[in-house]
Amino acid sequence: MLAPNMRYAELKDSYLFNTIYKKTDEYLTAHPGKQVLRMGVGDVSLPLCDAVIKALHEAVDDQAKAATFHGYMPEAGAPFLRKAIAGYYAEKGAKVSENEIFISSGACDDLGDILELFDQNNTVMVIEPAYPEYVDTNILGGRKIVHLSSNEENGFLPEPDESIKADILYICSPNNPTGAVFNRLQLQAWIDFANKNGAVILFDAAYEIFIEDNDLPHSIYELDRADTCAIEICSLSKTAGFTGTRLGYTVVPQNLVRGGMNLNAMWSRNRETRTNGVSYILQKGAAAVFTPEGQAQIHKNIRLYLENASYFTNALNDAGIWYCGGQNSPYIWMKCPDGMSGWEFFDYLLNEIQVVGIPGDGFGECGKGYFRFSAFGNPDDTKEAANRLCALLKKG
Ligand code: PLP
Repeated sequence: MLAPNMRYAELKDSYLFNTIYKKTDEYLTAHPGKQVLRMGVGDVSLPLCDAVIKALHEAVDDQAKAATFHGYMPEAGAPFLRKAIAGYYAEKGAKVSENEIFISSGACDDLGDILELFDQNNTVMVIEPAYPEYVDTNILGGRKIVHLSSNEENGFLPEPDESIKADILYICSPNNPTGAVFNRLQLQAWIDFANKNGAVILFDAAYEIFIEDNDLPHSIYELDRADTCAIEICSLSKTAGFTGTRLGYTVVPQNLVRGGMNLNAMWSRNRETRTNGVSYILQKGAAAVFTPEGQAQIHKNIRLYLENASYFTNALNDAGIWYCGGQNSPYIWMKCPDGMSGWEFFDYLLNEIQVVGIPGDGFGECGKGYFRFSAFGNPDDTKEAANRLCALLKKG
């Protein structure tokens, strides 16, 4: 008889987001005509930039003519896009070659697929609070998960210590949900720890573009010896508004070897088996992101989101509330006032000022008592939400 993967039964259901939708809908039904400002979601609001749209249109036209038509693309990605991304790394001072870059349909896909490189008996470390996919994919894979707590005292940026016994180390910087960003020294400590212990870091750089402070690393490969211990997973979702268009890329260095196996060669082989590549049209659109024109346009959008973030941080500064993020990151992670739980604060904001955010509980145990806002909304709504928040918090 067929035995299903019973680990699906171990996954928590989408209680958090379902409850947020349900509570918001119930409020709107009871208070018709009220304007609720949704400031929690991690989806972008600005459209694709002109350079990308132009490239997409041209690529569609290419597919209409035999002379320029493209069938299957290489599994690891189109050479023109791999080259453009290698150039992007070089500008940051990170040495990444074209054949270390693998194009995907988004970071979410690769975060799941990459685990096929690792044995089921490996132990995984997840820094909490965390993006839920790190936990869920490993529950499904049947791996042991150790949770490393982060907190206000360490600025939600914990250091490695020898008590951590894990083979796969997830690091997300800038972090979702906390917005905290590892500096060079802190990240180097994790690299040295991974190399010393033969572990592999899965570095999630989905929000690197939001870093404006020159002292903070965008890529783990800006640091020494990361090429012998780290895989970096990136996405154009937040960088260039590709959440609904879909494109990501993963770097697996050629120097990354474990148990006599070369992980770059393994990932190449994995791609040959698991994908027939990403659409030519989307890869053309993505390549436009890395042109000078594309970079100027996306940075304009990122500035606007960061401006949104500053409305929240100004409000929290005014009210004297502890938070992190909001700079070099689109997420603002605040401590709920007066010892409220995340859900109590959610209800308070919804009822008093019709602003919706995300209770920190959704990101693991140590998210309790905290709350996440996102800066991806439109500027007018965000400014209005921040003003309402400031007035409410000051009133007490
Ligand atoms: N990694 C982090 C930390 C994210 O927050 C997200 C999306 O919100 C992703 C990865 C997934 O990105 P993608 O849209 O490329 O699948």
